[in-house]
Amino acid sequence: MSAALEIVGVRRRYGATAALDGVDLAIEPGTVLALLGPNGAGKSTLVRLCAGLERPNEGTVRVLGEDPRRSLAARRRVGVAPQEIGIYPQLTVAQNLRAFGEAAGLRRRDARTRAEELLEPFALSALADRTAGRLSGGEQRRLHTAAALVHRPSVILLDEPTAGADPATREGILDAVLDLAADGAAVLYTTHYLPEVERLDARVAILEQGRVIVTGTVAGLIAAHGDAALVLRFTDGPVPVAASAFDGAAIQDNGTVTVRASEPAEALRALLNALGPDSSRLADVAIVQPSLEAAYLALTGRAATDSGVPDLVEVPA
Ligand code: ADP
Repeated sequence: MSAALEIVGVRRRYGATAALDGVDLAIEPGTVLALLGPNGAGKSTLVRLCAGLERPNEGTVRVLGEDPRRSLAARRRVGVAPQEIGIYPQLTVAQNLRAFGEAAGLRRRDARTRAEELLEPFALSALADRTAGRLSGGEQRRLHTAAALVHRPSVILLDEPTAGADPATREGILDAVLDLAADGAAVLYTTHYLPEVERLDARVAILEQGRVIVTGTVAGLIAAHGDAALVLRFTDGPVPVAASAFDGAAIQDNGTVTVRASEPAEALRALLNALGPDSSRLADVAIVQPSLEAAYLALTGRAATDSGVPDLVEVPA
């Protein structure tokens, strides 16, 4: 089967910044690609290029075999919720959803039905008659994401759709995406929240400085890179030599030390011994079990939540 979304050799510069520096990716119908990477990696730029909102400096983007900048038919089969929120502030929530549906070619009745279907998973039922301009930031993001899905698009591009959403709403959004993927949609989904990646049964691509540094399935990435690890942060001053020289240790630019170790508890014991009095400068210690989080940490040197500090690394029970 040919890919619903195909990105070949794409480069995009903004002045001296290479936001995308030679990206190749493909998404098959009925599958989700989770696009991960630190802030500034180029994720939002890629979403905008796939939607035809911008043009690459080099390379090609094909949506259902067409250039999204040239083909209105292809653009109509795309549902995009970019980072920048785009809704009609004077219309109500329900009116917004219907308007997006009709703009994408749905008949009035179908647009109304779909709008009603999406209110609940996006936790918008109680807000259906509220003017969009009077919604909170999080509510606006939910409406903006729901609006991208009204016409049951074949290619879905969502840029951090669950940012700031509470757990119940997060579930609703994931369900709505999974429903469309089960129906054959190809989904590009950016997030910093790794449990969502597993829930979506997504393939993963990690973007760093405009380049894809790895792609794979969740299971494949965990098997290849997801060893358990220790993450240590020290109070003021340089990282003690005994920690940075420890077997399997890597210092990150934010001053934390990651130690890959299949037996993290044992490594911790040995490390405390090696540190001696310097162990009193430890501010945080986290054990990361084999997981996608551990693989992400090993590949990028930071936590997926992006700050990279250990207290944001989840320690599974
Ligand atoms: P991400 O979504 O992964 O955080 P972005 O795609 O937003 O990354 O940004 C990638 C890089 O391109 C960053 O260095 C960002 O500052 C730069 N960039 C993105 N959009 C623009 C723009 N419109 N003008 C100038 N620089 C931009």
